[in-house]
Amino acid sequence: MPVAGGEAPPPLLIFGAAVAAVDGVWSPGWLVAAGGRIQALGPGEAPGGVRTEVRALGSVVDGRGCVLLPGFVDVHVHGGDGADAMDADPDGLRRMARFHATHGVTALVPTTWSAPPAALDAAVGAIAEVVGPVDGGATILGAHLEGPWINPARAGAQDASGIRLPDVAEARRLLGGGMVRLVALAPEMPGAGDVIAECRARGVTVSAGHTEAGWDEMVAAVGAGVRHVTHTFNAMAGLGHREPATVGAALALPELRCELIADGRHVHPGAMAVLARAKGPGGVVLISDAVRAAGLPDGEVDLGGRAAQHCCGAVRLPDGRLAGSVLTLDGAVRRFAAATGWGWSDLARAAAGNAADALGLTTKGRLAAGADADLVLLGDDGAGEVVLTVVEGRIVHHRP
Ligand SMILES: [Zn+2]
Repeated sequence: MPVAGGEAPPPLLIFGAAVAAVDGVWSPGWLVAAGGRIQALGPGEAPGGVRTEVRALGSVVDGRGCVLLPGFVDVHVHGGDGADAMDADPDGLRRMARFHATHGVTALVPTTWSAPPAALDAAVGAIAEVVGPVDGGATILGAHLEGPWINPARAGAQDASGIRLPDVAEARRLLGGGMVRLVALAPEMPGAGDVIAECRARGVTVSAGHTEAGWDEMVAAVGAGVRHVTHTFNAMAGLGHREPATVGAALALPELRCELIADGRHVHPGAMAVLARAKGPGGVVLISDAVRAAGLPDGEVDLGGRAAQHCCGAVRLPDGRLAGSVLTLDGAVRRFAAATGWGWSDLARAAAGNAADALGLTTKGRLAAGADADLVLLGDDGAGEVVLTVVEGRIVHHRP
């Protein structure tokens, strides 16, 4: 990704933190970023020469009592701070990128939902206007289409009037600008095979979501190139011991990376533990699925012209269905850690590395020399708030 503003960011040294590096946690460790990339990192104290050099030219951050992780990558996020990807508003997308950066997100994929063709074209067009680094916020990586090619029987909170059968001509139009990185569809619907093939030919990752697919259909979908599962357990056919169905296939098939909404509302902590055990550290992708109400006080929320109620950590339609979340990824990491007992290296994969891998991004999602300097520093030995967020070497959030 290019660095915003032309001028390379000044060097940055973080020392004293527990550092979740690719091959283990160093407590303490240190990391130096320069030119937007991670230049060097290691266990113990930063070498004296590095300290002197960075102190002269850039910033030095005392990370004692904190945990340093790769910046979170959210591949499934509809909105935040009052903005929604379906508003097709570039300023709203920037606001969303800034809001989620305060919660440790350094890269995100704004996500659309089922809507008429013109609304989807407009939403993808607005994302194209702001793709790349956002001043003071997370980098926008492209668009995630969640629908319209889903199963109406598993619509969840998606508006039924926007759902339609998979259509390769529509897929070519939406994918034509090269903006779409991820497509969530129901693989059992007629025509899905052609859309999956079209996505794969363009390098777009395909996810099974809002689906009733049975075991055999999921095995066939993986054979066709599906590699991802949309908010596992939610809006899909549940595990049965005679028909393992969508959830069973998601848990059992190693080719699939599984999204999880770890807000404590969408999925029980026990089911989070089941997912963690079945998939292991390489197979879980924490997502927010946040809607515009994330970051706002309780009250009424507009969801594409439908009124929902934001109260007490959840967003619900009048019939009680959950309609997205108000989750942020720092909270997701805390809840998932409590449910699974995973350590920082594995949590870093669930919150960053696996999402980057799902999109085929080799320079994001990991603390390694040469990777993008996308960083998050969590306070109180990792249990606390985001102290610092760094995107491509620039500090975009620093808790006062
Ligand atoms: Zn969603």
